[in-house]
Amino acid sequence: MTNLNTSSRTIKLAVFSSKNWVTTSFDTVNSTYNFEIAYFEARFDHKTALLAAGADAICVFVNDKVDAPALEILKEQGVKLVALRCAGFNNVDIEKAKTLGIGVVRVPAYSPYAVAEHTLGMILALNRKLHKAYTRVRDGNFALDGLLGFDIHNKTIGVIGTGKIGQIFCKLMHGFGTRILAFDKFPNQAMQDMGVEYVDLQTLYQQCDIISLHCPLTYETYHMINDYAIASMKPGVMIVNTSRGPLIDTNAVIEGLKKGKVGYLALDVYEEEEALFFEDLSEKVIQDDQFVRLETFPNVLITAHQAFFTKEAIQNISDTTFKNIKDYLETKGSENQVLPIEK
Ligand code: NAD
Repeated sequence: MTNLNTSSRTIKLAVFSSKNWVTTSFDTVNSTYNFEIAYFEARFDHKTALLAAGADAICVFVNDKVDAPALEILKEQGVKLVALRCAGFNNVDIEKAKTLGIGVVRVPAYSPYAVAEHTLGMILALNRKLHKAYTRVRDGNFALDGLLGFDIHNKTIGVIGTGKIGQIFCKLMHGFGTRILAFDKFPNQAMQDMGVEYVDLQTLYQQCDIISLHCPLTYETYHMINDYAIASMKPGVMIVNTSRGPLIDTNAVIEGLKKGKVGYLALDVYEEEEALFFEDLSEKVIQDDQFVRLETFPNVLITAHQAFFTKEAIQNISDTTFKNIKDYLETKGSENQVLPIEK
């Protein structure tokens, strides 16, 4: 039987999709743990999985692809653990990992405030056109034409998913004096006490001026914002996605924008972001025509999956990731282990 007790020897960790902010933060936390770390800038997938040879654990991020073929390779290399340095785990084949006896851990909450606050920032920027005003004023153009916004006060806000992030977002929007309609499979009493009304999705689509997505990506939520959903929405609706790209059918939202049905779109995540986000492609020709089309709309604001990116969140991600790895490898358990959903 394999001895998983690594307490007597140094834990070897292979970190994929590594960036400066990852190495800086991990190296600081590692002064307590003394893991042997190999940093790889490469994305993790079945083609790069061999780089993990000799590691006890790999550490991956949102756009790394930990699918069945990649997990098979990890198993052959003797890797025992996949440590996600993020909350979502839709990019990992959890069933396959379990079958192979490879553990999966994640960071369930590093700063829900970071994401909820970024969501609010995007709404304010898009509504009041702050991104345009900034460049205009720097160009010496002090005209206001084209910068007209609307009061958020008294508007109806739709929140899909009232988990950790959705709840904080509800509280922020409550402060603006809005009516909040929410949809979640598990309504939250504290939210209801604050005045949030849980409704079915159709009602939410029909009544809301701003709709913000805070539910996970699952088979159920994939492309939930599609032609039918958009058809039910108010003309000029603002849609905000800081959750996961594939919640929105990009073709459908482009059609909605062209028809003027969708009045504003704020994206921190994008369906095909793996090929784009987290890299400097400013000298390259972008090959994703849908993304380029999105960028042409004056009423679309896109950030590149940065909602989580605050000092506090990075510290929590690093602390929790190291603790998860040590706990799992030394005791074959972690409070943050991800297990397949019971069928
Ligand atoms: P959470 O697990 O605390 O909350 C998710 C909520 O969604 C839960 O209340 C759950 O009941 C609900 N839900 C599940 N299925 C649903 C469905 N079909 N319809 C409606 N609601 C449903 O998660 P969280 O920490 O609040 O994170 C929410 C999402 O934000 C994550 O899944 C992740 O994809 C995303 N996220 C994005 C960033 C970023 O940087 N942009 C950072 C962290 C998390």
